[in-house]
Amino acid sequence: MKVIVAEHFGICFGVRDAIAQAHALAREGSLTILGELVHNPIVREQLRAQGVQEQLSADAANGRVMITAHGTSDKQREALNKRGLEVADGTCPLVRYAHDQLKRLVRAGYFPVVIGLADHVEVRGLVGDFVDACVINEIADIRKLPPRRRYGIVSQTTQPIERVRALAAEIARAHPNAKIRFADTVCKPTKDRQLALKKLIAAVEVIVVVGGRLSNNTRQLVETCRAAGKRPLHIERPEELQPEWFRGVAIVGLTGGTSTLPETVEAVRQRLEGFHD
Ligand code: SF4
Repeated sequence: MKVIVAEHFGICFGVRDAIAQAHALAREGSLTILGELVHNPIVREQLRAQGVQEQLSADAANGRVMITAHGTSDKQREALNKRGLEVADGTCPLVRYAHDQLKRLVRAGYFPVVIGLADHVEVRGLVGDFVDACVINEIADIRKLPPRRRYGIVSQTTQPIERVRALAAEIARAHPNAKIRFADTVCKPTKDRQLALKKLIAAVEVIVVVGGRLSNNTRQLVETCRAAGKRPLHIERPEELQPEWFRGVAIVGLTGGTSTLPETVEAVRQRLEGFHD
């Protein structure tokens, strides 16, 4: 069995920097992360071993807290500062860019629309400063849009760009008299990994996707495989791989989401190759 690794895979600079920041802060003293730093159980275990705590709500947090790479609303940032907490900000610059684009559109008089998952932490942060903002994840959601003359659309950074563009086009179709402005806020690492996966899909029989089960961009990689009719095997850790999954398979593709550590992907590659010793 041959293993082909995607041209772009695994950890992105935003996640890598946030992890490094959290480890550095933990070495200096106590640290509470507001939510999951990244949706990767291995990284979270490593941080817990260093004494780092995670809390979903800042209500009970004390001392030093860290905002994750997914970012948060200005409202939430102000609330943290008001409580006198020492705030370390791990927001990825490309998530900040999405916030800036949405603010710019709202300032220009456009109704805020975010394409993505309403319950995802990044999206909650994006809409957190705009009480009337609308989140669209599928065509049926477009019905929720209140009638407006202008819609300003951004998206969650980890959505596949084709899906985002298709939904933006549907919004325009459903509101032919409205003025639509679309800002592409899908991050480059997500685009690179999606594109590399599409190239890989053509060359392999099954694809192993390594990443957290709650990681949106990992789930989107899995969806891309399914949509192309290629069998995805989604795992978080190398030990989950079972040799019987690959019986009769000659070529396996391998990729990982933007929160997957390079050493995890490497361990998966080695385990896959070991099945045929
Ligand atoms: S996936 Fe994109 S937006 Fe999210 S942390 Fe990585 S680079 Fe930043």
